[in-house]
Amino acid sequence: MQGEGHWNGTASYFVRLAGCDVGCVWCDVKESWEVTEKQFVTLDEVVTRVALSGCGRVVITGGEPAIYDLNALTMKLKKADIKIHVETSGAYPVKGKFDWICLSPKKFLPPVPEIYAQADELKIIIFNDSDFKWAEIEAAKCDPEKTKFFLQAEWGKKEQYYSKIVSYIQANPKWRLSLQTHKYVQIP
Ligand code: SF4
Repeated sequence: MQGEGHWNGTASYFVRLAGCDVGCVWCDVKESWEVTEKQFVTLDEVVTRVALSGCGRVVITGGEPAIYDLNALTMKLKKADIKIHVETSGAYPVKGKFDWICLSPKKFLPPVPEIYAQADELKIIIFNDSDFKWAEIEAAKCDPEKTKFFLQAEWGKKEQYYSKIVSYIQANPKWRLSLQTHKYVQIP
């Protein structure tokens, strides 16, 4: 189940690609940073697993999936009539065919400029007070007719930031609240 952002609550098969050099200090998937040969899976195997899931929708995430050229994978998924989402920090250009691009920029390695116009969704993780201002700077680079804007507390700081985020959204209603609902229902 997708637990965050615009597609929260929808059935989704997650493909988590190994490898990331963005280095967020609060990363909750640090196990995804390392790439080892043991993890290799053929593209056909990935597509088969996604198709058998019955979700009809895949979320390609990481790690940082944009470090790879995803054209071959996404072409195969398209042929199988799967809707394709990608979640990226935007640190590298996304290469592939996608139905939905979720941009979650990180200060540690800023996005490439062209990703802002492509973003269907901008998801800002709030880790400290200055992130509200940074969220507006990032939102101003997106297409307001296209991009949906989300604020999400970093999981370890959710008690500290939920009420601040709710107040901020009341005053700035272009933003919506994103919760990591999958964690509340114990989906890893
Ligand atoms: Fe972790 Fe994502 Fe940051 Fe990479 S970009 S360090 S996977 S939170």
